[in-house]
Amino acid sequence: MRVRLSLNCPFSELSVGNGIVIKRGQGWIETEETKEVRESIDKGFLEFEGRPEKKKDKKKEKTDKGEVWVFAETQHGKISRVVLELLGKGKEISGELDAKLAAVLITEKDEFSKELISYGADKVYVIEDARLKNYDTEAYTKVVSESIKKYNPQIVLYGATHIGRDLAPRIARRIDTGLTADCTGLDITEKGELLQTRPAFGGNLMAQILCKKMPKMSTVRPGVMQIPSHDGKRHGEIIKLDVGLSEKDFGISLKESAKSAKKVINLEEAEVIVSGGRGLGDKENFHKLVPALAKKLDAEIGASRAAVDSGWIEKNHQVGQTGKTVRPRVYLALGISGAIQHKAGMQNSDLIIAVNKDSSAPIFKIADYGIIADVNEFIPALIEELK
Ligand SMILES: Cc1cc2nc3c(=O)[nH]c(=O)nc-3n(C[C@H](O)[C@H](O)[C@H](O)COP(=O)(O)OP(=O)(O)OC[C@H]3O[C@@H](n4cnc5c(N)ncnc54)[C@H](O)[C@@H]3O)c2cc1C
Repeated sequence: MRVRLSLNCPFSELSVGNGIVIKRGQGWIETEETKEVRESIDKGFLEFEGRPEKKKDKKKEKTDKGEVWVFAETQHGKISRVVLELLGKGKEISGELDAKLAAVLITEKDEFSKELISYGADKVYVIEDARLKNYDTEAYTKVVSESIKKYNPQIVLYGATHIGRDLAPRIARRIDTGLTADCTGLDITEKGELLQTRPAFGGNLMAQILCKKMPKMSTVRPGVMQIPSHDGKRHGEIIKLDVGLSEKDFGISLKESAKSAKKVINLEEAEVIVSGGRGLGDKENFHKLVPALAKKLDAEIGASRAAVDSGWIEKNHQVGQTGKTVRPRVYLALGISGAIQHKAGMQNSDLIIAVNKDSSAPIFKIADYGIIADVNEFIPALIEELK
């Protein structure tokens, strides 16, 4: 596998030179993490290729190597949001490659093809079977692998969801190709290759990865790509597939499903997020103020890494580079400074409201509304106002 280490960190903080260095201020220094990268290159595990040549203009090499596919995951009778995000990105890259964009839909009964077409799919491959109502690792692996072998797409994208993370590596093994997991960026190079960007070495570097084998496969973090606009008038082709499943292709038999009593955190799909940081002071104060406001606003609770690392709240609430990437309509940042790693996970929110007692906090640079206040006074006052 060739791994390109980007010359410039997307957050303009880290840089990779001919040696591997991090730029801080004026000087170049080597840290524990960059030492690990340099040693990996020395040992030949990674290959440093310098700045990747991203496509400069509309001209590109036509690859004519097949379609771009999106695995159309459904859950609880709905197309997962990340599928729509992938259709948006898929449309962009299939356009650059002059290829068709197709969705692969595995379902008990096809109620989704039209929606997939309205969000950009030119084709939908539908595998309809009552036994496929619920996700089954072995059966789904067989269905997608056989479909890939039959139609030879050049790119296959999956959401980095529980299902995508379970399915994609098995398919990669079955069809003998590579897989780049948890991508945060996809691009097409001038040579028509898929350039996959993902955080590496604990988020200290962004690696850009090219895969040699076909098809190129990626799982993509939910919440990173933008959902395209819906066009109910679009037409597309619906192709029914039968891969000849037999009973022995099913690994599980589901007797019953029950909702977890524990509330599932769904930050990626939340419309409103109330996020708390170290400015809340301590665990007790965090839990006194943040959930109360979230409840009033029917919002999910987010947190900075500082709050998570302090043990105030579980890791699945963390927003940021090593947490979740979110895109809510409203993001409230309470007592959060706005470090680049936090901003990386929330800066695409539609409306950002920041509350911080320090007027020079970096969060104010990206906030639509900045409130210079003490969270201990502001949050109770806002809750009172909302009554
Ligand atoms: C590789 C790597 C990955 C990382 N990934 C993430 C990530 O995914 N997510 C993430 O969040 N961080 C991440 N970090 C950590 C990040 O760099 C910051 O340390 C972290 O975001 C800081 O959290 P904070 O803003 O809550 O705390 P601080 O930076 O300490 O900020 C606290 C803020 O609260 C304000 N404040 C204090 N008291 C009050 C008050 N009473 N009222 C109002 N305001 C108050 C202060 O003015 C300050 O601005 C990562 C770091 C590294 C190196």
